Amino acid sequence: MSEGAAKKEEKPRKFQAIRGTRDLLPPETALWNRVEQTAHEVFGTFGFGEIRVPIFEPTELFARAVGGETDIVSKEMYSFEDHDFSELEKLRTVLVFRSPDVFNAHSISLYRNQLAEFVKALEAGLKDPEKPIPATPDNQRALTDLQAQTNSIELMLQDFKNTPQVLQRFDLRVETIRQTLRVISFGDVLSLRPEATASVCRAYIEHNMQQLPQPVKLYYMGPMFRRERPQKGRYRQFYQIGAEVLGGGDAPAIDAEVIEMVMTFFDRLDLQGVQLDINSIGDRNCRPKYVELLRAELLKVKDKLGPDSQRRIETNPLRVLDSKLESEQGIIAKLPRIADHLCEECATHYAAVKHQLEMRGVFFRENWRLVRGLDYYMRTTFEITAQGLGSQNAVCGGGRYDGLVELLGGPPTKGIGFAIGEDRLILSLQESGKAPAQQGRDVYIAWMGERAHATAIRAAKDLRKAGFSVELPPSEQKFGKALGQADKLGAKYALILGDNEVSEGLWTLKTLADGSQAKYTEPDLLEHLRKQKALKL
Ligand code: ATP
Ligand code: MG
Repeated sequence: MSEGAAKKEEKPRKFQAIRGTRDLLPPETALWNRVEQTAHEVFGTFGFGEIRVPIFEPTELFARAVGGETDIVSKEMYSFEDHDFSELEKLRTVLVFRSPDVFNAHSISLYRNQLAEFVKALEAGLKDPEKPIPATPDNQRALTDLQAQTNSIELMLQDFKNTPQVLQRFDLRVETIRQTLRVISFGDVLSLRPEATASVCRAYIEHNMQQLPQPVKLYYMGPMFRRERPQKGRYRQFYQIGAEVLGGGDAPAIDAEVIEMVMTFFDRLDLQGVQLDINSIGDRNCRPKYVELLRAELLKVKDKLGPDSQRRIETNPLRVLDSKLESEQGIIAKLPRIADHLCEECATHYAAVKHQLEMRGVFFRENWRLVRGLDYYMRTTFEITAQGLGSQNAVCGGGRYDGLVELLGGPPTKGIGFAIGEDRLILSLQESGKAPAQQGRDVYIAWMGERAHATAIRAAKDLRKAGFSVELPPSEQKFGKALGQADKLGAKYALILGDNEVSEGLWTLKTLADGSQAKYTEPDLLEHLRKQKALKL
């Protein structure tokens, strides 16, 4: 190998953010902060408090809440087993991939020993007083089965006959053992959260929040994870800002106020082209009947539908209404509409929600095809779109989920909430030029000489204390270079501190926009900058 090639190989790997994830950098992060700060303020005025839930939870929580049939749970979650039994897991892998030589008693004996070792460790793990392997029915059954298998191989070895029948039976036995080994789970299967409503409901139950004054009004913000195909406005790690109202009944005014709150938030951010769509998707009484009717009608036109919709006739017919396929639009337009099939309670509730929105001056469009991707929604559902986002134009989805807390083992509790896609919200603000201009430094301190450095350090401290953003170069520079640097950083002023300034006690302030220069005493300078800031100059 040539020296050059060797060097090339040594070159350390260049890391990049994983596909579908990205770094958020300044100055863009200033916009993220403004958005989040506005959410804290607006939601606070509606009496909501912030909740922070973990990034990962048992997969089971999401499967139960979001629904096993949804794309999110069936194919988009990042899941992993979380346990302290990696040695045992390795041994399992060895056993699963091992095929003992059935003609050879020695090989079978080795296999049996390994299996016995595994069984012993499994038994101990299940009884571990500190961090046991979960004693699930599957795991218990696996232990009993494997113990029986070990004993029976032992017996077989005592009277080893390698007739074809015996050998064939042994092959089958190894296959059975493999299957049993595979079902063992050494610990919880966890997932990165694909959304946060399930976690908020889990927390509501876990902390007995039903004992607090109802309803409990919570909001959250943070990253969510879904293994989707990355594209504009769609990432694998994305951010949501959401809110939930739990308990306290299902008065239509609650639905309307939650929607009013999101709209107020968007309004405060000056989000452009905001469009609110609402619908009612019924409840346990009327929705199943409608879904059956829909399924029956869809089956009649099955041949004309695409593969996704064909599959959804079985799994989730409501989702067919969501289809954006051009060829399906004509067919969908003729399907029965849920508004005509709501039970009386749901119809009354829906009418009242609309009335409540009108009383609040919230404009909406009724959209009978609006259904939500998650299983837990009922009655009120809504979606908000904004401009500048192409086909990923939904910035917020929400709805009522009255059965969810109960489904997760809590008391019967009404609930409604929404989740805003923060990435898309930011994109839309940027596209419509609503992002704030980059904030440069207020003051760049151009100092020269040791004495001036000491003064500069003190000046920086005082200016920062007064709330100015200050750049204090770590080493001495020629004034020309310092001024160039100040310019590049977008500084408004350069504070020039040289020997003269320090001995005179008069500091030179240069306004970079027009190049004008003036001298100030230290207190006057601070006063001058304060006044300029107040005038937003
Ligand atoms: P979509 O139909 O766009 O896939 P969804 O119905 O899956 O959205 P929800 O689960 O209701 O979305 O989440 C609420 C909001 O979160 C969406 O309206 C969207 O703004 C945002 N969102 C969802 N998935 C992503 C993603 N992968 N990347 C960025 N934002 C997302
Ligand atoms: Mg989605």
